[in-house]
Amino acid sequence: MSGATVNTVMGAVEAKDLGRTLMHEHIVFGYPGWYGDLSVAPYDREAALEAGLELMDRVKEYGVNALVDATPNDCGRDVELLREISERTGVHIICSTGYYHEGEGAPVYFKIRNKVGDAVAEIHELFVKEITEGIGGTGIKAGVIKVASGKNVITDYDKLFFKAAARAQQDTGVPIITHTQAGTMGPEQARLLISEGADPGRIMIGHMSDSTDIRYHVRVLNEGVFVGIDRLGLQYIVGCPWDVERYAVIIGLVGIGYADRLMFSHDWVAYWMGRETPMSEAAVPLLGNWYPTHLFKNVIPALKKGGVSEAQIKTMIEGNPRRLFEGGPA
Ligand SMILES: [Zn+2]
Repeated sequence: MSGATVNTVMGAVEAKDLGRTLMHEHIVFGYPGWYGDLSVAPYDREAALEAGLELMDRVKEYGVNALVDATPNDCGRDVELLREISERTGVHIICSTGYYHEGEGAPVYFKIRNKVGDAVAEIHELFVKEITEGIGGTGIKAGVIKVASGKNVITDYDKLFFKAAARAQQDTGVPIITHTQAGTMGPEQARLLISEGADPGRIMIGHMSDSTDIRYHVRVLNEGVFVGIDRLGLQYIVGCPWDVERYAVIIGLVGIGYADRLMFSHDWVAYWMGRETPMSEAAVPLLGNWYPTHLFKNVIPALKKGGVSEAQIKTMIEGNPRRLFEGGPA
């Protein structure tokens, strides 16, 4: 794949044609193990399709033209569903190849593979195959590599994927996007990927919006990578800060010159695999804005009030995703 094209679920698209891009959402997501509970909670593909179509229709009203689905291989990824949604709505969808972190993923398989052989080489083979040939027999190619680590630690298991991702990027040029847990290990993730040969201009350290420590953000940005402010609207639960605190961080970072490195999203899930998880009563009103139109309805107006310009917003929602896929200096 050349530097200027992006693998979408419908085929190659020029990076310059992506337009407004949400960098980290999920059409479907399930914590590994959901498939063992299918007798009680079957996968309702029709409901997932409806939720995905509605999501695209709603974000299209705000000019969204592309969306990265960050669901890794072990969390219920359904790329044929994504293709159908993209085909019917016209929104470009970029799917991931990757694995979730040891604490919340499905670590047993590659732990055992690593005992009997070279798991980094095997994961590298998997990533490259899914990027260059396609996922399963679908012919749908992954457009980003997703890797993840836990709170305050990148375990030896997690490192297998970071190393394989850096190698696969060298072979294919596709961006690496990450999951950090509770806003920790961002600098360490960036340094690990770069030390293994990844291009900082093709890395987005994700879920940085879970930290309100501006010094931490600057430490990550100093590695030359992009930063994902990609849990907008997800506040109060899972250790997330308040959006208003995130606005202060974004406005501060833009104010000191980092508009060309920040990207936005919500980490929203349109359809959960497995049984429904009832929300606590306290959480319901706090999550009222957790939906992928929140950026346009509430966040951007708040940033403008804080002095962020229209041009800087355009850079963050269009220019930066394009540059991440094109590569080159961040
Ligand atoms: Zn996510």
